[in-house]
Amino acid sequence: MKVLLVEDEFRLAATVRRGLQAEGFVVVIAGDGTEGLQQATEGSFDAVILDIMLPGLSGYEVLRRMRAKQVWTPVMMLTAKTDEQDQIDAFDLGADDYLTKPFVFTVLVARLRALMRRGACERPVVLTAGSLSLDPVRRCVAREGTPIELTPREFGVLEHLMRYRNTVVTKADLLEHVWDPRYHGADNVVEVYVGYLRRKIDMPFGTNAIQTIRGVGYLLDTGEYPGTRDEA
Ligand code: CA
Repeated sequence: MKVLLVEDEFRLAATVRRGLQAEGFVVVIAGDGTEGLQQATEGSFDAVILDIMLPGLSGYEVLRRMRAKQVWTPVMMLTAKTDEQDQIDAFDLGADDYLTKPFVFTVLVARLRALMRRGACERPVVLTAGSLSLDPVRRCVAREGTPIELTPREFGVLEHLMRYRNTVVTKADLLEHVWDPRYHGADNVVEVYVGYLRRKIDMPFGTNAIQTIRGVGYLLDTGEYPGTRDEA
């Protein structure tokens, strides 16, 4: 597993490299955004760890240019910022995951492995369900061609439901795939977000795509099977 680490803080980069090497990764360090972009586009990596605050090009700009060049290597962004707007920025540009500094090294390794398992192959595919479309790369959603703004969490829930459309998805599935793996809160947070989603993707359009399967979870109905609608 070969990882590109784009990080200008030399000591942090050296520490992360040492740790990742001990876990069996091969690590290449780029110390600024320009070099990072060059390595990411010319080299072959299983994942990129990308700092946001970098000399040369910012991490956002490196990511934007990578995706513009059709480089789909999974990217984990490192950020000292926790503001949701920053997360939206990076999601819009096609980042796959985030880690806020300072981070716990074992968490970095676990998230990196998860990122690599997901891989880069599915990314250019636009998901559709009836008149609803979701582009995982451009992070945009539309119904009947009308763009719909979603928060990153709402987007994550909808993306998971769309990947498993016409299949019952449990709340536990959604918590596992969309929330932080360390989230141990109540699962009614899923109901809250499904409610937000319905108000954006269904109610304004008179549709009823997200169905509640009582006591089990949710099913995203593509409308291909008439007569299955039974919304609670
Ligand atoms: Ca930095």
